[in-house]
Amino acid sequence: MSEPLLPIAEAGSKDTVGKQCRIRGWVYRTRSSGGLAFVVVRDASGIIQVTARKQVLGDEAYAKFSSALIESSVEVTGEVAEDRRAPGGYELRATTALVHAPAEPFPIFSGQTDEFLLDKRHLSIRSSEIVATLKVKAEILHSARAYLDEHKYLEMTPPILTGNAAEGGSEAFTFEYFGREAYLSQTAQLYLEALIYPLERVYSITPSFRAEKSRTNRHLTEYTHLEVESAWTGLKENLELQEGLIAHICHEVATRRPRELEALGRKPEEMLAITAPFERIRYEEALERLKTLGHPLEFGQDLGTNEERALTAERKQPLFVTNYPAEIKAFYMLRNAGDSRLVDGNDMLAPEGYGEIIGASCRETDIEVLKARLEKQGAKMENYDWYLDLRRYGSVPHSGFGLGVERVVRWICKREHIRDTTPFPRTPSRVTP
Ligand code: ATP
Ligand code: MG
Repeated sequence: MSEPLLPIAEAGSKDTVGKQCRIRGWVYRTRSSGGLAFVVVRDASGIIQVTARKQVLGDEAYAKFSSALIESSVEVTGEVAEDRRAPGGYELRATTALVHAPAEPFPIFSGQTDEFLLDKRHLSIRSSEIVATLKVKAEILHSARAYLDEHKYLEMTPPILTGNAAEGGSEAFTFEYFGREAYLSQTAQLYLEALIYPLERVYSITPSFRAEKSRTNRHLTEYTHLEVESAWTGLKENLELQEGLIAHICHEVATRRPRELEALGRKPEEMLAITAPFERIRYEEALERLKTLGHPLEFGQDLGTNEERALTAERKQPLFVTNYPAEIKAFYMLRNAGDSRLVDGNDMLAPEGYGEIIGASCRETDIEVLKARLEKQGAKMENYDWYLDLRRYGSVPHSGFGLGVERVVRWICKREHIRDTTPFPRTPSRVTP
């Protein structure tokens, strides 16, 4: 076959009308009568209607092609023609049509339960909604890397198997590592902190694991964690990097994936409108707002899903909440110089009620303070001795943040549940397929 092989999105276009081409893909839907079949074929780029005639293909080839069930893989050559009735406005008039591998009756159809679709996730990921979401997710990862690269951050590969349960032992998955206890990483932060001494600006994109028993629509047990750490930075620089990164991601996604966003119910203009600087409020101001919104909290209580939703439901732009109480935050966060009850850190909350997408802080540099906090939380001190070395040999002010990639996808793609942002979601009740 000499016809040029084209992605379907390129085959169905003004430029190809009247020309011969070849496509490959999977049967998306099919209908035939007499000697005429309309077979819509899908590939990674889009769909096109193939019009097949028995007269042209011959009896045997026509019979095989027109009776191929959905998801059969096929290869077609033919001439592209305009047709207003066809999806997308173009059709391919087949001169040859081969069934590469016929499919058995596809077990996925409309009206099935979420649980069934999750059991068949390896097949249900072919749905147009999931495909659009995964394309947007890839763009989010790509644009984040591009932004950090432009700002001279180097991508690191920290370990996933670790002897430190950094965020607190209760939510860590433990396993036996040749006779000793080890953990699946909850954060790369401690390792990124070590890497700023030689490299100053580093980041990583790795899976993080949290043994979260609570079933919420924004927690996975395995998620994609984008973490950034920089030497010689404080709260101000940290906030600016976070908002710059998020605004860049939103603009890139709107520019490069507008069709997918529209298909998911997200207007690209809403993402183009995300602009730094984002509003900053202190934790104590957040408590005041929450009181007027009918969600009173005492000082020292953490914002949960409901509080974050109340604070952001009516917003179009992300919101920073800074200076949380130290008692509800991790041991490594730096105390605020003016009020030692608080930390110099922040969360970033996505608008429209989606809530936390980033957790951030300046890191404590005083070795004695760190030791005292680790002892108080009952940590095994010998596991942290290497981390304390980072304060012994040329300690510097530094800060960083962790961004939940699936949380960002959930917001941008307007997904109800975080499991719909990842191909094979891991939750307390599901570790297969
Ligand atoms: P939350 O309060 O929502 O449980 P967290 O305070 O435990 O979040 P951090 O430890 O600060 O979160 O982690 C950094 C980021 O990682 C969070 O801002 C969030 O975007 C993401 N994240 C945390 N836990 C999960 C999870 N279980 N599933 C998906 N993303 C998560
Ligand atoms: Mg948590």
